[in-house]
Amino acid sequence: MTRDACLALDAADALAPLRAQFELPPGLVYLDGNSLGALPKSVAARLHSVVSEEWGRDLIQSWNTAGWLELPRRVGDKVARLVGAGEGEVVVADSTSVNLFKVLSAASRLARADHPERRVLVSERSNFPTDLYIAEGLCRDLGWELVLLEPDELPGRLGPDVAVLMLTHVNYRTGRMHDLAALTAQAHAAGALTVWDLAHSAGAVPVELGRADADFAVGCGYKFLNGGPGAPAFVWANPRHSDRFWQPLSGWMGHAAPFAFTPDYRPAPGIARYLCGTPPVLSLAALECGVDSVLAAEPVGGMGALREKSLALTTLFARLVEERCAGSGLELVSPRDAAQRGSQVCLSHRAEGESGGYAIVQALIARGVIGDFRAGDIPSSDILRFGFTPLYTRFVDAWDAVEHLREVMSRGEWREPRFHRRSAVT
Ligand SMILES: *Cc1c(COP(=O)(O)O)cnc(C)c1O
Repeated sequence: MTRDACLALDAADALAPLRAQFELPPGLVYLDGNSLGALPKSVAARLHSVVSEEWGRDLIQSWNTAGWLELPRRVGDKVARLVGAGEGEVVVADSTSVNLFKVLSAASRLARADHPERRVLVSERSNFPTDLYIAEGLCRDLGWELVLLEPDELPGRLGPDVAVLMLTHVNYRTGRMHDLAALTAQAHAAGALTVWDLAHSAGAVPVELGRADADFAVGCGYKFLNGGPGAPAFVWANPRHSDRFWQPLSGWMGHAAPFAFTPDYRPAPGIARYLCGTPPVLSLAALECGVDSVLAAEPVGGMGALREKSLALTTLFARLVEERCAGSGLELVSPRDAAQRGSQVCLSHRAEGESGGYAIVQALIARGVIGDFRAGDIPSSDILRFGFTPLYTRFVDAWDAVEHLREVMSRGEWREPRFHRRSAVT
């Protein structure tokens, strides 16, 4: 493999023109779209029009005339196309953490109604912390037990006491991807409900919520959906469940008739009851541009084509690291098996008993290669994380990132004290 060969792959890539949708600083290799997606060029004009025309000129009438009230559903319908859900099954609202609380609460109500003897919520030990914290809080309120396991232990633990299996489809640390359909089927066979977090899946890997007959799902707007910092999140409930109970944050936007102003709560039919308060219009407008940037791949193969390119990129990057950085103490943590890999590559680093993960990432950032660092509970589980967004990442970016990494390692650049100072956000 050579840099020229990577340039040839880019030249032959049918998805390559989609990169022009994004504002990306020249010379920068951005491998952190799994943490904050790049800025679609359409956002500035859209926000300008929402601010100056819809808000500035038309003021409160825009709730009706500009369709502000419909935004959570309209953007939800677009997200639905990316996660194998139907029209009217997804809404965009609140944050991933808050939506997780809503769906876990709804799942617990179903479980308590149908199987009151089941009082265990199962998840993965290395799930994203906010997911575990939300589950822990809910379990404390319900008097349930939260059981945390390694991925391979999950199927064996789905016994008669398990009410809910809550998993993140693609692990934020390792990039390991669960088989959503198989685990959903195993959970159902054992009498448990499933709650899936698609934070690292939506816009990155194909997801078939409906075909898998999953129960509930949430996901993030600011990662592979390119919705901007703090973009609202999405929530899906299988239509089979959506009308049975309402979620505990029974705010007026989830009411059947919010503008009837009745003193009592009557939930809206379907997924709309998962809305709570007034939608964040500016953020939703930016998120819609982000979701549109992913849907722009539909004419050239959609999520299937994006997945193919994502795997080609991660496979190339992992291979180049192993070949060109051999002997530097870097090791591949993400699965080698493509079927088990999301859209990121994670490395660990050990040299002379020391983990240089944080400093290596800082040295790369100083060279214009943006990845990130995730601390483990022990230094040997520290991780260097590189996200590959197939919409805008090129094969030559993978090559250039590895060349910088090779130089950082071979010159011992990461040992410089300036790369060891910690910032608040890693
Ligand atoms: C990014 C991410 C979140 C973020 O939650 P917020 O409520 O937006 O802070 C939650 N869960 C997972 C698995 C994530 O990857």
